[in-house]
Amino acid sequence: MGRMLVAGEWVDSQSRAEMPVTNPATEEVVDTVPQATPEDVDRAVAAAKAAFADWSRTDPEERADLLRKGVERVRACREEVADLLTREQGKPTHEALAELNHLLHGLEYYADLASKLRGSYVPLPSHLGSSFGLVVRRPLGVVAAIVPWNYPLTLMGTKIGPALIAGNTVVVKPASTTPLAATRVVGLLQEAGLPPGVLNVVTGPGRVVGEYLVAHPDVVRVAFTGETATGRRVMEIAGPAFKRVTLELGGSDPVIVCSDADLEAAVRGVLVGRYWNCGQSCLAAKRVYVFEDVYDAFLGKLLEGVSRYEPGEGWVKAQRPRIRLGPLHTARQRAEVLEQMQEALARGARVAYGGRIPDGRPRGHFLEPTVLVDVPHDSRVVQEEVFGPVLPVFRVRDIDEAIRLANDSPYGLGSSIWTFNVRWIHKAIQELQAGMTWVNQVHYGYDELPFGGTKQSGFGKEHGVEAVDYYVELKSVVVGGLA
Ligand code: NAD
Repeated sequence: MGRMLVAGEWVDSQSRAEMPVTNPATEEVVDTVPQATPEDVDRAVAAAKAAFADWSRTDPEERADLLRKGVERVRACREEVADLLTREQGKPTHEALAELNHLLHGLEYYADLASKLRGSYVPLPSHLGSSFGLVVRRPLGVVAAIVPWNYPLTLMGTKIGPALIAGNTVVVKPASTTPLAATRVVGLLQEAGLPPGVLNVVTGPGRVVGEYLVAHPDVVRVAFTGETATGRRVMEIAGPAFKRVTLELGGSDPVIVCSDADLEAAVRGVLVGRYWNCGQSCLAAKRVYVFEDVYDAFLGKLLEGVSRYEPGEGWVKAQRPRIRLGPLHTARQRAEVLEQMQEALARGARVAYGGRIPDGRPRGHFLEPTVLVDVPHDSRVVQEEVFGPVLPVFRVRDIDEAIRLANDSPYGLGSSIWTFNVRWIHKAIQELQAGMTWVNQVHYGYDELPFGGTKQSGFGKEHGVEAVDYYVELKSVVVGGLA
């Protein structure tokens, strides 16, 4: 049975209650983890609070050093952690390894940044006497890091990296269905020498453990990634106490393919963008708008590419040229995607590829990679976030129609355009309502660039130097008595 890390110790829930973690490909139980009680959360927050005094004063180089040692430990267990991730989450082994590498790269990025955070010196007017000002960056205190199941490792790393190097302490709450790899990583980071209480992990259902953690009076900062509806609830709880909150929520990223696009590259980008992680990415390419003069050519190449995906267990390698497509994460997840698709089909959409539960797979939450055409723009599959391998493709007249339709969504996370026309690129950068625009590139979150949404995709940034700003407060200091 898995356990929780509190104050440097592996502990069970005080209630002794456990939750099963299920393999999405076989529906078999992989392991169990403790179901934390509010008292367990109290203990974890108290441990983080107690550790804050020393950690916030620890030399930044030392913090970085401990994080780097932790990265080395995790790297040494790469295969084991990736396998755990595949078995609890469903993603193919090569994707699990890629996620792990992304986590390590991100943690190293923040370790490198630890000693480079600085404030500023400000000359002041002398009418009150000679003085100067300083702007000092101070850590905040105890951070709650609430993580979803689609990228349990990287999305934990985007929170603990900047939080820890800035001098905060953290309580991580992984998703109930993916606590195993994350807990293992936290354990390895701890073994590398983090002082007890600096990094803790509690497991349990979001409605109980997550809400209690967000509401806890000693938690000053909530870093949340998850669904838009859950983000709204987190705001409701954290708002009255004026906690610092970042919300990385759902997305429905549009892709625009213009008449001059490199179609081979655009198709490759869309395939990775849509079908990586079985379509369960916040920044997945979820709608494609293709200029009418290249629509047929694009669709032909896309369908050829989609036909290479083969649903199957993540730990079984696909034979080239096949590409492994794992299962959806839960039965509920697949049922929702099927419902979204059915609604569009009932209103005139057509299946250009896939659309069914694959034959011979009575167990596991598999779904064929799917392409839809003739989809009404007000249908669920367009207006809601589709967290699965289903892609609607639209024909558009020109850049104005493409941008208008791209923006016709409640979400505003990512967006992309495939063209070499500098005017269209400029227009897309200026007018696409999204926190990120990729130009001739696959949708991907870079450790080096701030990432976060607008509209109902939330607010705040993860990744980049900028993310650290969300884990510090700026304190102004006036120093007088100079002469
Ligand atoms: P979710 O909202 O169901 O759960 C996310 C986390 O919140 C889990 O740890 C869960 O246990 C916890 N939680 C649930 N209810 C809670 C509550 N009432 N109070 C506090 N915590 C609670 O999301 P999910 O289904 O795990 O993840 C998929 C969603 O995450 C998608 O919408 C996806 O787009 C989004 N996402 C966004 C980003 C981004 O950077 N914007 C990245 C990845 C995923």
